[in-house]
Amino acid sequence: MQYDPDNIFAKILRDEIPSTRVYEDDATLVFMDIMPRTPGHCLVIPKTPCRNVLDASPRQLADVMATVQKIANAVMPAFDATGVTVQQFNEADGGQEVFHLHFHVLPRHPGQRMGPPGQMGDMDEIAANAQRIRAALAG
Ligand code: AMP
Repeated sequence: MQYDPDNIFAKILRDEIPSTRVYEDDATLVFMDIMPRTPGHCLVIPKTPCRNVLDASPRQLADVMATVQKIANAVMPAFDATGVTVQQFNEADGGQEVFHLHFHVLPRHPGQRMGPPGQMGDMDEIAANAQRIRAALAG
């Protein structure tokens, strides 16, 4: 399967469509999921193209996982979370919908179920949650 440079996350990387960014470094970008399944649900992507773990280079995987860990450690205090779920899907039959490698980072709380997929979030709430993550990263 080939990488499509017009997938929605490639457009976010090029700033062709809006996103709520929370963190970036030379190799990775983190932005809020617009259909959050828990408050604070965000996505970590490499800045370079690859579809998923099947075609990613070891470098891309290492860079993205370093950022996943950084963000997981930030969402814990940002949301007084007691756990973090990290999710990742590969190809349509593996549950993937956007074909640019991404890891979901979802802060979790006791007894809290994840919400259903595909439900647009409240953009003011998403912006406020992004600010909580940025503040935690700033320490
Ligand atoms: P999946 O490919 O199954 O891991 O899911 C793709 C994720 O991207 C879903 O959680 C969507 O809510 C999210 N998503 C889709 N479009 C956007 C967008 N424009 N900005 C932020 N998140 C998005």
